[in-house]
Amino acid sequence: MKYLYLRILLISLLLINGNASAEMIKRREVEPTGKVVWEVPTQNKVIALTFDDGPSPIYTPQILALLRQYNAHATFFTIGSRVNRYPHITQQVIQAGHDIGNHTMTHPYENRNGFDRLRTEFLNAHHVLQQYQPNQPKLFRPPGGYIDDALLAEVNSYGYTVVLWSYHQDTRDWSSPGVQVIANHIISHARNGDIVLLHDGGGNRTQTVEALKIILPILQKQGYEFVRVSELLRYRSVH
Ligand SMILES: [Zn+2]
Repeated sequence: MKYLYLRILLISLLLINGNASAEMIKRREVEPTGKVVWEVPTQNKVIALTFDDGPSPIYTPQILALLRQYNAHATFFTIGSRVNRYPHITQQVIQAGHDIGNHTMTHPYENRNGFDRLRTEFLNAHHVLQQYQPNQPKLFRPPGGYIDDALLAEVNSYGYTVVLWSYHQDTRDWSSPGVQVIANHIISHARNGDIVLLHDGGGNRTQTVEALKIILPILQKQGYEFVRVSELLRYRSVH
């Protein structure tokens, strides 16, 4: 009983500290500035597929082959430490004409303990990616979508746009809910300008790969074109 009380006290203190140290950005305030993007409403039938937490020596090449087969382009939000580990896979992604985005150096979840570490994580990954794509579009996706004003300002100062995802296109593919579940989710929710959240790293992504085999031909038949996030951003109306 005594230990339970102590645990509750400790958790409460952590929560209070977490709230005091950083506050999440507010979509309604930030979206009109264009510094953070969730999706790009447009008349054009374009969709941006995004793959987080790679590169993976197993799944990334399979995804690249499928994208090639359907003449589709995508954006890979890579983890800097994994880019260092799999430079040849990273090169394959870039050579195939896809965007590489910054998804921090080691993928920490810092929403409770402040965002200071994330600034270092962003910067370290920035230096890694610069070696591969010095003139490419600068896109940053924070792990879990957690970002505060200070981190946003830091990221913007390096010329980055923060790219989150369409809330109706969070497939939760990382939880392996079933190939058909992932595919149905994307197909039934598809709208022009969507940014779809998928994963090529961080675990067994067999279902993601299999779901892509369903999604790509069906949406293509419906007239959708799969574009990189940097291309999708060109469809934004001027603010
Ligand atoms: Zn991630």
